[in-house]
Amino acid sequence: MHTKMTDSFSNKEDKDYFDSLFQDFGGLSENIDLFDFRESQIKRKEFNKIRSKIFQDPKSKFGSVCQLKCHQDCPNSADEVDHLIPLSSNVLNKQLRGFRANNGKKAPTQSFDSNHPTNFVLSCTRCNAFKKNKIPTIDIIKYVLDSRHDDT
Ligand SMILES: [Zn+2]
Repeated sequence: MHTKMTDSFSNKEDKDYFDSLFQDFGGLSENIDLFDFRESQIKRKEFNKIRSKIFQDPKSKFGSVCQLKCHQDCPNSADEVDHLIPLSSNVLNKQLRGFRANNGKKAPTQSFDSNHPTNFVLSCTRCNAFKKNKIPTIDIIKYVLDSRHDDT
């Protein structure tokens, strides 16, 4: 059988990176639902099927406010849904492994995002565009996860 490693990080430094990013919230083990190591194409298809639903669910739960609040001109409205852990990112390849753009091609991307409800955040168009494919900062994670904990 030609199975790929799909249930864990292929690089230990990535695992350590996320573990420390989520350290105030129980580390990686408490937030593993945010991650999915399958191929991005499969996950993208899944996402497109549930797109309208995942906008409505948090909207009815959290109201029409932007949950990212990372752009200075955030209008604080919820216009779209964004992934907390992005669909694809080359940030860790660049930051942790020193990959660079080569011959006009960007550094290769990795895909960690899950389609679990916890990985979706309501966002205004500005914050969504601002965050785009970045790994969320500790500030964003705190803001998003704290607002959820207040809710329970
Ligand atoms: Zn916003």
